[in-house]
Amino acid sequence: MAGAVLRAFEERRHLIVEAGTGTGKTLAYLVPAVAAAAARGGRVVVSTGTKNLQEQLMEKDIPFLQRVLPRKFSAAYMKGRGNYVCLSRLKRAEHSPILDGLDDVDYFDAVRRWSRDSQTGDRAELAELPESLSFWRHIDARSEICTGQKCAEYDACYVTRMRQRATDADIIIVNHHLFFADLALRGGEFGQVIPDYSAVIFDEAHQVEDVAAEYFGAQVSNFQLEDMLRDLQMLPITDASLNRELTRVANRVGRFAEQFWMGFAREARADEGRYPIVPGTFARKGHGGEIEATPLGDAYLALDGALQRMETTLDALREKPPEVENLIRRIRESRFNLEFIVAGDDRRYVYWVERRGRGTFLRASPIDVSTLLQDKLFDRVETVVLTSATLASAGSFDFIKQRLGLAPETDESDREGGGAGKTDELVASSGYNYEEQAVLYLPPRMPEPRSPQWAERAAAEVVELLNISQGRAFVLSTSLSGMRALYERVHGEVDFPCFVQGSMAKAGLLERFRTTPNAVLFATASFWQGVDVRGEQLSCVVIDKLPFAVPTDPVVAARQRFIEEQGGSSFYEYSVPQAIITLKQGLGRLIRSATDRGLLAVLDPRLRTASYGRLFLQSLPPCRITSDLRDAAAVFESELAGG
Ligand code: SF4
Repeated sequence: MAGAVLRAFEERRHLIVEAGTGTGKTLAYLVPAVAAAAARGGRVVVSTGTKNLQEQLMEKDIPFLQRVLPRKFSAAYMKGRGNYVCLSRLKRAEHSPILDGLDDVDYFDAVRRWSRDSQTGDRAELAELPESLSFWRHIDARSEICTGQKCAEYDACYVTRMRQRATDADIIIVNHHLFFADLALRGGEFGQVIPDYSAVIFDEAHQVEDVAAEYFGAQVSNFQLEDMLRDLQMLPITDASLNRELTRVANRVGRFAEQFWMGFAREARADEGRYPIVPGTFARKGHGGEIEATPLGDAYLALDGALQRMETTLDALREKPPEVENLIRRIRESRFNLEFIVAGDDRRYVYWVERRGRGTFLRASPIDVSTLLQDKLFDRVETVVLTSATLASAGSFDFIKQRLGLAPETDESDREGGGAGKTDELVASSGYNYEEQAVLYLPPRMPEPRSPQWAERAAAEVVELLNISQGRAFVLSTSLSGMRALYERVHGEVDFPCFVQGSMAKAGLLERFRTTPNAVLFATASFWQGVDVRGEQLSCVVIDKLPFAVPTDPVVAARQRFIEEQGGSSFYEYSVPQAIITLKQGLGRLIRSATDRGLLAVLDPRLRTASYGRLFLQSLPPCRITSDLRDAAAVFESELAGG
């Protein structure tokens, strides 16, 4: 793998590598990256999907290489801007009511004291404060609130300093969210923080499509509008009559925004989740065939009118401090995005709403990011390396290449013409001996997942498996309801401590799992990837059903429709390869070191009965497959014999 990465750098090509767990993947790309940064004199960005991996690179792999490599190099760590405190907003917040209760007063004081001495301004340093500080979003350094070089705190600003450190570094470690937020802003005046680079390595690259889609779309939320109103109140304007006028326009926006969001909650269901914005939500044909605004459409028009009034009032100010200019820019952007989403007529986008906690987020996401990525990334950056333990399905990279817009093989003349370069491919198989270390158990005679008997049979299988593995297991479900149902049926039937996702924060739950002997964790999607439990504490991974993406999800449905409209089969070209990659992720939780042993179980009979099941089986690690529980138990025999 290191050789292939080095060649990709030297020949300025792109590379896609599936590198199973235990291959030493991070070192295999970091060493050539250091060599390439030195040889080319350009920076190399390494982007990860999860925080865990970002920390592993910065705290373990990079310091190790800095010690052992003869060539000295520097590395910088950049998180999303929302992790850093904005000194300018912090100052203003001291004089404005952003605190909700007495606890907040203490926490705010602690943040203020910390910000005077912190070297990084990264909130991770505030480990003793709660994870969700209610006022953090009023003082963070998000790009849309930043006034850039016009800010009085620009030189002292933690984001400026972070950028400076990155500018001086050979290797810059970021995550996909920061990378794509930055890529979407490139060429604009504000918000771009990652210095120019000549190569990018995406680790955990199977997540790239979803993250990219998030940042190349449009979004408006109730929080965004609330933040604007709050920032309006904090503007440094001393003229009393002007302030009265601004309060009036802000009140109008506040009133119409509330009506709009309430209308949305009624229209688009009240429960949490992601829903499509269906045609006719804002306007529909009347009896005479003319287009009429719906009540929600009227609420939008009233809100847009109020926002426009706010914009023109601010725009008319003779003196415009940077905060005012920033606010005008944000109002324009919100109006533009809102108009785009309400019109909903660009067929390249899917329009949807997400309700989460107190938040309502209206979004338009590109259905297909391949052209965008080709234009903005693969055609512009000389070398892009995509790697992950799970990128291939049934031995082929076609799915991921197609989804991301990685050019098919082109000849040299195409390259000279400016097209994306060739993409090399490599499967670096795992460094583990799966035949020795793992057994895949497929229970005999399981009913179909839709059958009413499935849940009871699945629970009985889980109980037997847990007794064999003595707990020490992840039971992973494809849905929350499936997870709860299995937990309810199983936890009273076994003598092992059972934990269930949602009972506490993810990090705390993992810690309890790691430190409780013979524990069992019931969980869903967020535990399928990026979770690392080494050793005997995790000896069994049970997966309830083949993890097909939920077809009711608006983004998934739009992607499937798009493929069908192009004459393809959304099932074979999207659903199956995507589910294979997810299943490989889930099963990959089990064997995390050369000495781990364990039992994998998939309770979905379609793996053997459906015609596509063979594609899944071909893609799994080459371990022994059995339908006999005693045979499955044998994987632990050498472990028990060894003590
Ligand atoms: S430069 Fe931007 S992020 Fe930094 S302190 Fe000023 S406004 Fe905040």
